[in-house]
Amino acid sequence: MSYFADVILPLPLGKYFTYSIPEGLFPSIKTGSRVIVQFGAKKYYTAVVRNIHCNTPEYETKNILEVLDPRPIIRPRQLEFWEWIANYYMCSVGDVYKAALPSGLKPESETMLQLNSECCIDEINDFTLKEKSIIDFLTNEQEASIATIEKSGIKNVMSSIKSLLERNIIAIKEELRRKYQPKTQLCIKLSFERGNEDRIRECFEDLKRAKLQLKLFVTFLEMSGFNRPGNETVVNRKALLERANISNAVLLALINKGIFVQYKQEISRLDGGKQKVEKVHELNPAQRKAYNEIIDSFCNKGVTLLHGVTSSGKTEIYIHLIKHAIEEGKQALFLVPEIALTTQLANRLARVFGNKLGVYHSKFTDNERVDIWNSLLKDNGIQVVLGVRSSLFLPFKNLGLIIVDEEHETSYKQQDPAPRYNARNAAMILAASFGAKTLLGSATPSIESYFNAKTNKFGFVELLSRHGDILLPKIEIADTRELRRKKIMKSGDISPRLAEASKSVLDMGGQVILFRNRRGFAPIVECQTCGWVPKCKHCDVSMTYHKHLNQLTCHYCGYTYEIPSKCPACGYPTIEVKGFGTEHIEEEALSAFKDYPVARMDLDTTRSRKAYEEIISDFEEGKTSILIGTQMITKGLDFERVGVVGILGADSLLNMPDFRAHERAFQMMEQVAGRAGRKGRQGHVIVQTSQAEHPIINQLINHDYKGMFNSQLIERQDFSYPPYTRLIYIYIKGRNEEVVQKASRWYADLLRQSFGQRVLGPDKPVIGRVQSMYIRKIVIKFENNASPQKVREIISTAEENFYAQNGFKNLILYYDADPM
Ligand code: ADP
Ligand code: ZN
Ligand code: ZN
Repeated sequence: MSYFADVILPLPLGKYFTYSIPEGLFPSIKTGSRVIVQFGAKKYYTAVVRNIHCNTPEYETKNILEVLDPRPIIRPRQLEFWEWIANYYMCSVGDVYKAALPSGLKPESETMLQLNSECCIDEINDFTLKEKSIIDFLTNEQEASIATIEKSGIKNVMSSIKSLLERNIIAIKEELRRKYQPKTQLCIKLSFERGNEDRIRECFEDLKRAKLQLKLFVTFLEMSGFNRPGNETVVNRKALLERANISNAVLLALINKGIFVQYKQEISRLDGGKQKVEKVHELNPAQRKAYNEIIDSFCNKGVTLLHGVTSSGKTEIYIHLIKHAIEEGKQALFLVPEIALTTQLANRLARVFGNKLGVYHSKFTDNERVDIWNSLLKDNGIQVVLGVRSSLFLPFKNLGLIIVDEEHETSYKQQDPAPRYNARNAAMILAASFGAKTLLGSATPSIESYFNAKTNKFGFVELLSRHGDILLPKIEIADTRELRRKKIMKSGDISPRLAEASKSVLDMGGQVILFRNRRGFAPIVECQTCGWVPKCKHCDVSMTYHKHLNQLTCHYCGYTYEIPSKCPACGYPTIEVKGFGTEHIEEEALSAFKDYPVARMDLDTTRSRKAYEEIISDFEEGKTSILIGTQMITKGLDFERVGVVGILGADSLLNMPDFRAHERAFQMMEQVAGRAGRKGRQGHVIVQTSQAEHPIINQLINHDYKGMFNSQLIERQDFSYPPYTRLIYIYIKGRNEEVVQKASRWYADLLRQSFGQRVLGPDKPVIGRVQSMYIRKIVIKFENNASPQKVREIISTAEENFYAQNGFKNLILYYDADPM
């Protein structure tokens, strides 16, 4: 019987592809194994086996060329989770596959070929001319990509390559197959069975006259604990030489005598930093109560929301819950919205969970991520994972608990590329598939989650006092409109009140955080004569000025150029920098607080993991006194000595063109305020705004989350926004604006035939062109009780129709379900 495998390719394709399984490969192919297949004329890909069957397809199938994993590296439950994401977020499973696996596990570069070292070419004579040329080429070049081979003048090589591959003459290069390099160490062991005392005695006899060799032999026996039972008789080579203080030549002699054997042992990168495990903190009475309520709530609700004010000890409660899950033999996943948060938390968790903890995010190297992946495939590997949204895809075996910390955070939602999933919501689905529980935690829950809690869809637990009964920070307003009118303050300055408050805290040995939700030195550069503003060539946005680099950068496509010395529109040398971002505040802080070291944390200063860790640990240790940053510093960080937090540019937060702008402004400001006064004294927050009477500002002063929730909820209901409806945004992109406009009208009309007034648009989005692509947006708003599955089916039929239209084929059409 012939067998076939349906595989998932790392491509945005709507379906699975079927390949035949050559007999020799059959025993080693499993659902969830990676295989190498050819797709299209020239390319090889690493695909994932979805299922194996014997239904011969109607079309001719290609062979699976290689199996990379005799043991699957993806569990069936994960594959189902991929499919759920692809379906709900309206993308291909291939998109999900690309997001799910660390790149070390999915080589998809131009395939490199090499001669198979195990095969002897001379013995085989029946090569075609073309095959001979390919063999010659590879003999000379050692390795080459298929493209290079074709470029050398050998045309239409695919079938020859296939035949050579199948006859095992050439191979896909090992590096492609195993991009991941396990970490190894050189070890020494005895060449004979431990416990063979006769042999040991012989050795001693043998080495009697070779003093150094004898010394090394004895040192080995000591280190390997040879005569103590239960010890491995293996010793690290370097450690052995160091301990014995003897040269490598002596060791070689012992190896040559056949006493020692040297070999490579794979070691895990994970237990490199062996932590001393500490006991967890006792929960205080309020935390204990909340903990018990959560455990109770877990009994009858899949998802529970913990609304705990900043510094109430949510993290302590999480730690207890994780411990509980582990004691029941389950795994736990602790999700955080940003890498910035993992640094501090990793230390806090490692102190409790030691090497049962794995940390997973993109700033780790591929090898480190693959190590975590592999550890989860083992039976007694990692039990707790701390990670960002992509850690949902790790091969968990028996998940018992997912914690989604700072659940309101928008960074849980992936924007680009697909899958545009919300990790908070996907976490609930994943947890449910394991029968596990999800805990959402936040000091400022999203309106959606709080609404779900209030309407009993989720369990609900509150913790409204800070640990140590410290008061929530005092919030003061600096009315910038007033200050400007009186000419006390120019645009973008640190107000006198903020400067004064900061100074006094700094002088007492405290620290200051200044928050400005915009990076760059000055977002707006303008000609003072004619009003010309530098724009990106490829996008509909103004350029952002970066002082350190002295250049203008587009934050959408990365295009950069220098500020022109003369205005390209009017010719006058009057181009000036206006407004302010983090870089500008840094400069101002440096001159206002001369004696105190300043650090800045934003996308530009945290390109590497080291950079994050350094900025945070320097501030923790008091090496820096003032921390300036974007929304990166608003969340979750736990510093002890922050006395003052300054919020600059609250106006820009309040004025965002988005139905969630006010909710977000409150969350961000309340969160950053929460960094003040976490230990010891009440903190002090100064908000600079020209809208001092804004309801959100008032709610912030009173730390009135519920007031904010209630007033926002009324607006959401009035305008039919979530949580009363669900949204799907549809984007259509293309290089020709007219075609894009025509196609999006056509598509909106088609959708209206099914959804009627629920379809809005098409509209030109705020940024109507990015990277030379014109964009139109259609919005579908449907009732909560509409079936998401039905909606998706209708859209998917409409989409087939769309691409069947003349001239629409080259347009890009994609969806954003539950946009944030
Ligand atoms: P949240 O996560 O709610 O912002 P944290 O868990 O970070 O709050 O707690 C704030 C600070 O108080 C942390 O430094 C934490 O170690 C300390 N803390 C909280 N609860 C306890 C406790 N029960 N015992 C000792 N320290 C605690
Ligand atoms: Zn000008
Ligand atoms: Zn651009």
